[in-house]
Amino acid sequence: MRIKSIQTGRIQIPLKTPFKTALRTVEAVEDVIVRVETDTGEEGFGEAPPTAVITGDILESIEGAVRNFIAPSLEGMEIEDLDGIMKRLHGCVKGNTSAKAAVDMAVYDLYAKSLGRPLYRILGGARTELETDLTISVNPIPQMVEDSLRAVEEGFSILKIKVGKEGYQDVERIREIRQAVGPDKVIRVDANQGWTAKESVRMIQKMEDLDLDIDLVEQPVPAQDLEGMKFVTSHVNTRILADESVFSPRQAIRVIQEQAADMINIKLMKTGGIHEALKIVNIAEIYGIECMIGCMLESKIAVSAAAHLAAAKSVITAVDLDGPSLCREDPYEGGPLYAGAKIIMPKEAGIGISKVPVSFR
Ligand code: MG
Repeated sequence: MRIKSIQTGRIQIPLKTPFKTALRTVEAVEDVIVRVETDTGEEGFGEAPPTAVITGDILESIEGAVRNFIAPSLEGMEIEDLDGIMKRLHGCVKGNTSAKAAVDMAVYDLYAKSLGRPLYRILGGARTELETDLTISVNPIPQMVEDSLRAVEEGFSILKIKVGKEGYQDVERIREIRQAVGPDKVIRVDANQGWTAKESVRMIQKMEDLDLDIDLVEQPVPAQDLEGMKFVTSHVNTRILADESVFSPRQAIRVIQEQAADMINIKLMKTGGIHEALKIVNIAEIYGIECMIGCMLESKIAVSAAAHLAAAKSVITAVDLDGPSLCREDPYEGGPLYAGAKIIMPKEAGIGISKVPVSFR
């Protein structure tokens, strides 16, 4: 089974409500879809969102990297030669982690299809079901309380609250949400780099004093400020999760060795796909730290690739794969089932997605 062609297309899916973080506001998913076709007529699918403020990738750069660099490097290669494909994929162009992730997952899709098994089984996994959190966007407090209550009603028992836009007001925000949802729901907080180190310590300690029972705080300080994140991690009891600070396996090692965070958020768009994400998984296993699996604003193809990785690796203890839950419609057929907070892994071979209504060129 050889790679015959690698093509791209675009998909646009409206969101149920605008997605707002300390970094951006987005109304719809508009992503690049990649199709890898083999000489035997099999298709593998991948997806990459243009997360300019985090990865630096935009729609045109993703398409350009796939068409002009990655496709000519990989066409003609044997799918069985996964190691060789990954070497070329990561060697043919620098950066461009989202484009690489889209092609990487399409290749893994085909690799698992060639073996006739679901991808998570090929990766060694046995978990058939995952529970994801749901993201609550940054808004005025009453709306965030309402959104949190609706999420609970829809069956989500883990909420990820976006903060970081209004400094100390964020403590009040979390206090009101905790009061509304009650003591038994899990609350995670994501500041998306919106606080300084000192603000973070003061606010997290305040939340601890108020017994708000926060599961973890994600990326409180700017990505480059490892000193600051270490300061936060060492001054609070709450777990600190590194997101924007860790893209590569090398950065994961550095954050862990410097004890700058307690956990690492793995996203395929940061690592450049499953092959590199597996290295972070292995590093976390070696050092004995837990990981979250996260996603950008992605629809079901990319999120499902991440779900297969999570289902395969027990070191991934927190699942933040709510992309499909935020989309107003599901244009694809097959793949994991997203039923409220539950993600049920598919029995089909590969990632499982069979129908992708996109025109490729
Ligand atoms: Mg985050």
